[in-house]
Formats: sequence, structure tokens, C-alpha cells
Amino acid sequence: MNKGGIFLSEECDVVVLGTGVAGLTAALAAAHSGSSVRIYEKSSLIGGTSAMSGGIIWMPNNHLQEFAGVDDSREKALAYLESLSLGQIDSDMASTFVDKGPEMLQWIEKVTPCSFHIIDNYPDYHPEHPGGLPQGGRSLDNGLFALPELGEWATKIRNHERGNPVMLTETPLGGATVTPDRTVLGERSDKGQIGMGLALVAGLLSGLLDMGIEPQTQSQASQLINTSEGVTGVTVMQGGKPIDVKARKGVIIATGGFEWNSELVRTFLRGPMTAPAGSPENTGDGLQMAMEVGAKLGNMRNAWWVPVVRIPGEELFGHPSVRLILLERTRPHSIMVNKYGKRFTNEAGNYNAMGGAFHAFDPHKFEYPNEPCWLIFDHRHKLDYEVAGCRAGEQTPEWMFSDNSIEGLALQIGVEGATLRETLTRFNRHAAEGSDPDFHRGESAYDTFNGDQSIEGIQATLQPLDTAPFYAVRIESGSLGTNGGPKTDVSGRVLSLAGGVIPGLYAAGNAMAAPTGMVYGGAGGTLGPAMTFGYIAGMTAASQ
Ligand SMILES: Cc1cc2nc3c(=O)[nH]c(=O)nc-3n(C[C@H](O)[C@H](O)[C@H](O)COP(=O)(O)OP(=O)(O)OC[C@H]3O[C@@H](n4cnc5c(N)ncnc54)[C@H](O)[C@@H]3O)c2cc1C
Repeated sequence: MNKGGIFLSEECDVVVLGTGVAGLTAALAAAHSGSSVRIYEKSSLIGGTSAMSGGIIWMPNNHLQEFAGVDDSREKALAYLESLSLGQIDSDMASTFVDKGPEMLQWIEKVTPCSFHIIDNYPDYHPEHPGGLPQGGRSLDNGLFALPELGEWATKIRNHERGNPVMLTETPLGGATVTPDRTVLGERSDKGQIGMGLALVAGLLSGLLDMGIEPQTQSQASQLINTSEGVTGVTVMQGGKPIDVKARKGVIIATGGFEWNSELVRTFLRGPMTAPAGSPENTGDGLQMAMEVGAKLGNMRNAWWVPVVRIPGEELFGHPSVRLILLERTRPHSIMVNKYGKRFTNEAGNYNAMGGAFHAFDPHKFEYPNEPCWLIFDHRHKLDYEVAGCRAGEQTPEWMFSDNSIEGLALQIGVEGATLRETLTRFNRHAAEGSDPDFHRGESAYDTFNGDQSIEGIQATLQPLDTAPFYAVRIESGSLGTNGGPKTDVSGRVLSLAGGVIPGLYAAGNAMAAPTGMVYGGAGGTLGPAMTFGYIAGMTAASQ
């Protein structure tokens, strides 16, 4: 009964909460298994962080590898994940991801307009670990999608107005050194074609609309309906009114992480995370609903970490926005230093692993010395490469510190000048010799892939900072999304604190305890598992 005294209710087989890739894939899987499906989205826009993403999917042992001559196997993939697990990965969950993921992708290609291709040579994020692939083959890009095909739904996708007519493979992030020419880009723009995460979400949504299922936006799930038989539905707020939605077979939580909920971030994450990068509606609603019905939790201290820059006053979707710091760290003539002016890690390492360096704790000083930190680069870097959206050679923006001397720069950013000079002198000496004995930058295939692709060898990432002026940009510990939440079994069913599963409750994507623990296996390491467990949860719920 709502406040006006009118009882509102809806009924279907499977209810899905959230329209990121996890929710859309879950809804598709349940619908194709013959279930009636309703999918609710808190925001006025479809797609969550997924629609803001690069759209890369990490999928070991995938169906495209044979044609591309990639030597991969189930065993290699599992050995790789195990080598990085640090006791955090449930091996049954990891095997399920590796076994079911390729099947899911082939199925998605059948039931939606999505099609995937391997990003050539994109190494795994820890390629030298057992089972890692230094030559790539597991990171997949998706094709372009013509947004006008979605009709009125095109403008309901998050980020649709920022779509680019390029696939990730055609950008420097995908290893490209030349982008498509202007004629090609013009033709694509005329057709409304876009790539990356936006195209992935659009393709999945298209498949769903073809099944006659329309997501309901501005519909925030607020509470699970919990009975002695388990979860039998969910209360959804629409236009300020609660609607009870009965789910005959199950409710799938795919509401993303809790990165925008500062209280949950403080409570659970293992170290500082001051700058969420994704969709601001991801406030841990699914987590809290699951906690209320006694779900067992897992992976709560982890997130998909990423170094970011915050530009004062810059906003996206009405919230402070961030710019990811990816290639800036790995290209030549740049380093990162902590508040003491010292390097503290291999700057070219993958962004997720960088979280570990940010969270190193000094017990004596009782502080995190590496967060925030500074990206330091010289004029050659500034002339040749884009830095946090400031294009190569562009005028120095206000948020970028610069000075003709290292000491002058140090003074501006509050770092001890002599130490910063010492750091640069040591780095430069070794860089000139082509080595980094302190942090091994450039030794991994990953480091050089993300360096300057036009330069061969270790110099693609390792070159001295010796040309004034020098520059500094403040870096914070950010996140693409948290990845802890209700623990599930291999069928996507949420486990209960009391033992067994909570009947009728499923979870997928960043809302669930990540099946890969704290491991970001390679580019696409979040979307691959999210879609796989969306698929599994949708199938399982539909089979009840
Ligand atoms: C810039 C950027 C680039 C990235 N690139 C990649 C990449 O290339 N590859 C990769 O693997 N990962 C990438 N990531 C990370 C990736 O985007 C996320 O990990 C992934 O999208 C999470 O998917 P999801 O479906 O779990 O959640 P989301 O896509 O965030 O979807 C969750 C949805 O649930 C909705 N919701 C929340 N609460 C409720 C509620 N109470 N009721 C109903 N709906 C609710 C939200 O509004 C949202 O739409 C990137 C992230 C960023 C920020």
C-alpha cells in the first residue's frame, strides 16, 4: 500500500536491478531461457559505469584465439589467476569464469548485434606470471554500433553524447599508433556509429529491446521482499512511490559497486580511495539490501583501483569528475614521486596494481606516504604526449604546476627540493643506461606496450627527464568501481550468513564479491567476469 492508499504491484519471473553490462546480460540470459523479465534502473540513464568504459572484455581461452593463433588454455588461465591470487580467489569461482565466459561471449554474439575482436598484442596485466600471455589474446574489443538503430533509446544511454566513432583498438590505449583518417571518421559520425563501452551497452540493450523488454529508468530498488521462502521480490521506488515487484523465480542484484558511498568506502576499503571514476548512482544499494537479508560478504576491502587527476570544478553527471592517469605514467620522460619526492613503484605497472602502492602504510609516521602523489615530467614529455586530457604541446593549464628548475617545481608542490633532484638524477642515470634497478620499469611486456609504441625496446617507457621546464600533476587514488559484495556460489546464488544460499537472490558484476578477488587479469578484467556472472545468474534464476 503506498501513502495514497493505492496498492501498486507488478509481477514477473525474474527481476534484474541495474542496467550495466552485468544487469543487461543477466536480463538477456533470463529472457532467452523463457522467463518473463523486468529490469529496473535507478538513474534516468541506462548503462552505469559500463557505458563510460573502454568496453574491453578480458576473456581467457576465448573463441577468437584459434583463428588468431593464440596459444591459450583453461589450464594456463587458471594457473595465471592462481599465481596472482594471494589466497583471495575461490578456485571454483575462477574456474567457472574461465569455463563459462567464452560460451557467454559466443552466445552474446548470437543474440545481440555485439561482435568481438582480439586487441592485437595487448599483454595480460602481469604477463610474466605463470600462464600469462605477453603477446596478448585475452583482451577483446567490440565493434562499432550505430546508435540511431536504437531509436528513442539512443539518448537514454549514459554518455551517448560523448561517444566517439572509434573502437578501442584504433586508439593509443589499444596500442594504435595511427587513428582512422578523417573521411572514415566522418562517414562513421554520419551514421551515428560509436565504439567502446557505449557500443557494448547499446548492443546488449538492443538485444533486450528485440525481446520486447524495456528497462524502467528512475526506478530505484530500495528493499528486498524477504519471506520464509527466501527473496520473493523487491520494492522499487518510482516517482517517489514504492512498488512491490513480485519475482516468481528470483531477483538479480547488478547495481554496481559502492564507490560513491563515502560511509561504505570508509567502512570497507583497505586504504584511501578519494576519487570514484564511474557512475555516481553506484552507492552500494545492492550491497545494503543483501546485508539486510543476511548475505555473506566477500572481497569487501578491494576495488578496481586507478590513479586519477581531479580538475578543480570539473563535474560529470552533477558530481566531481576525474581523469584517469594511464599512458601518462608509462610513456618516456615521466615518473611518479610521493610526498617526500621519492619514487615508490614501477610507474608503468597496471593501474589496478597501483592501488597496492598507494596503500603502503608507514607504521612509524602513521601515514600513507604515497597518496596523494605527483606525476613529474619534463618538457619533452609535455611536447610529445597528452597528459590528463591536456593535448601534446598545448598551453599549460592552471592545474599543472611548472617551473624551469626542479627545485622551483618542488617548492610549488611542497616537496623537498634536494630529494626531488636526487630522485631525478638517479632515475635519469639508470634510464640512460636502459634500466630501472629500483622498480624494474620497462622489464614487463605490459610496460612497453603502454609506452610510446613508436619506440622499440625499453626506451618506449624509460627515458630521462632532463629538459626544462619540469611539470607536476597531483594524483589521487581512485577507483573504476568497488568489487566486494554478496558472495555467490558458482551458479550466481547469493550465500547466506546462516549457511547455504538465500533462495531467490542472485548477484553479478561489481555488486558481487569478485570471482577474481583482487586480480585484474588484463584489460577488460572487470567486464569479462561481470558479463559471465550476469549470464550465469540469469540462466540459473530462469531455471528455477
Ligand atoms: C572510464 C572507465 C573506463 C573503464 N574501462 C573498462 C574496460 O575497458 N574494461 C573493463 O573491464 N572495465 C572497465 N572499467 C570498469 C567497468 O566499467 C566496471 O567495472 C563495470 O562497468 C561494472 O559493471 P556493472 O554492470 O557491475 O555495474 P555498472 O555498469 O556500474 O551498472 C550498475 C547500474 O546499477 C544501477 N543501480 C545502482 N543502484 C541501483 C538501485 N538501487 N536500483 C536500480 N539500479 C541501480 C546504476 O545506476 C548503474 O546503472 C572502466 C571504468 C571506467 C570508469
